[in-house]
Amino acid sequence: RITIIGSLNMDLTATSNKRPAAGETILGERFETFPGGKGANQAVAAARLGADVTMIGMVGKDPFGNELTQVLRREGVETEHIGSADTSSGVAVIQVVDGDNSITVIPGANFQLTPDYIETKRDVIQNSDIVLIQLEIPLETVAAAAKCCKEVNVPYILNPAPAQSLPEEIINQAAYITPNESEAMILFEDINEALKKFPDKLVITKGEEGVVYSGGHVAAFPVSAVDTTGAGDTFNAALGLKLASGSSLSEACSYANAAAALQIGSHGAQAGMPTDAEVIAFMRQ
Ligand code: ADP
Repeated sequence: RITIIGSLNMDLTATSNKRPAAGETILGERFETFPGGKGANQAVAAARLGADVTMIGMVGKDPFGNELTQVLRREGVETEHIGSADTSSGVAVIQVVDGDNSITVIPGANFQLTPDYIETKRDVIQNSDIVLIQLEIPLETVAAAAKCCKEVNVPYILNPAPAQSLPEEIINQAAYITPNESEAMILFEDINEALKKFPDKLVITKGEEGVVYSGGHVAAFPVSAVDTTGAGDTFNAALGLKLASGSSLSEACSYANAAAALQIGSHGAQAGMPTDAEVIAFMRQ
């Protein structure tokens, strides 16, 4: 059982062939809405891969909140522990240019996910094999979740995205930390030093270059990216699933690279998330 503690957002995606400069208005090509948020994305990715997934999060009492919850339920995620707050649901405004994205997140209800709420979910956390946490919820809530995991002796993967500097304790107590390259540069003054300091804990994703950790590099699969939104989320869910079921770090990274490579072939974070059978077939090619 995997428990995700994190955000649910509605992603509002505008696709254009150039990025507007400050003060400039351009005509784009397409507008779409996609359910997202790093927490919800990781929940969907893990569920598609066949995991038993519980989501702990917060939505607003608005149509986006209902839709975000329904989407997870349809994917087979346990949604009973998603609360609702008297504010807007989280949204992410995403600009896609040539498959690369720039994102503004308005946290809304995600910032009403409190340490007290986490405390009421202690039994859910205790009944998990692994917990996945990201940083689109308040840092004090991340700290409470980390503390709870530690107290009930359940490992957690911290995906420190979006990056911010973190109390040492949250890093020290994590079983794994999975920044991408730019997040790693914000978190650590010297990445090589950090890799040495956190062997087999710090796992840095490097896009098309794959993954590095102390003493290891696991190559990505060569694919052409359509939309990389959600690559990291797919990677983290797949990594968590494999590590929880006893795979080695290098096996888990290879599987997670394959899952992410399949996911970036479609528009939107959740649309292209593969099933376990699809990942296995892709790895055999
Ligand atoms: P994020 O999406 O969080 O910024 P990365 O860009 O590092 O993180 O991507 C996460 C993972 O997704 C990578 O480790 C890799 O497995 C996969 N990935 C991302 N971009 C590509 C790409 N262009 N080709 C192949 N795999 C990719």
